[in-house]
Amino acid sequence: MRYAILSDIHGNLEAFRAVLADISRRRADMIWCLGDIVGYGPDPHACLDLLKRQRQLTVPGNHDLAAMNMIASSDFHPDADESNRWTKEQLVDSDMAFLGTLPPTAEKEGCTLVHASPRDPIWEYMRSAEVAAQNLASFQSQVCLVGHTHKPAVFRCIDNTCVEEKFPDDAPLDLGKTRFILNPGGVGQPRDGDPRASYAIFDGGSRSVQLFRVAYDIAATQAKMLKAKLPQALIARLSYGL
Ligand code: ZN
Repeated sequence: MRYAILSDIHGNLEAFRAVLADISRRRADMIWCLGDIVGYGPDPHACLDLLKRQRQLTVPGNHDLAAMNMIASSDFHPDADESNRWTKEQLVDSDMAFLGTLPPTAEKEGCTLVHASPRDPIWEYMRSAEVAAQNLASFQSQVCLVGHTHKPAVFRCIDNTCVEEKFPDDAPLDLGKTRFILNPGGVGQPRDGDPRASYAIFDGGSRSVQLFRVAYDIAATQAKMLKAKLPQALIARLSYGL
């Protein structure tokens, strides 16, 4: 089986659709979504509706939990808080019902799926090899898949130590039997300086993961955000992937 690993769609329908088109070209049997389907972007309802129609396994992110009033939006950056409050007004009962079905974490094919980190699935940013190593005792599977930072990342872990690497360019990363913590980057608001949508495909047969970047109509998303009067900084950052 092949699994498309997506995270941080963030209500960006143009980016999500472009990624789905790329996935159908490259073929995947199922989507694993690491959360933050909503927040920041102009199409939270349409993104939830499109995601739930896919063959998918999804865990929630901090923005999804804020939309469900399960964590306080006031704990977010002011621009995120403003977009969270706007997002809540756009969601309908079926969106809330779908969000309510999501398990906090999941484990399939030797991979643990969480939004932020295995020891703190809601808030912790997996930004360094030190933080990766501190999380090794908090998941049992060979691989842990995380999102939340919106930056692609590879942590190769042996015994109690992790080393940060990059995904290979245009080639799969062979996992072998080594433990890894992997981040596929962000679909709807990439933050690694490349504005294209980011996602990965895990091949369960060869046990390898490949990263892909997909161009999408950024201006169309920004025009919708402007119309919705979402914060200017959130509109501008899509152009730069920061
Ligand atoms: Zn996010």
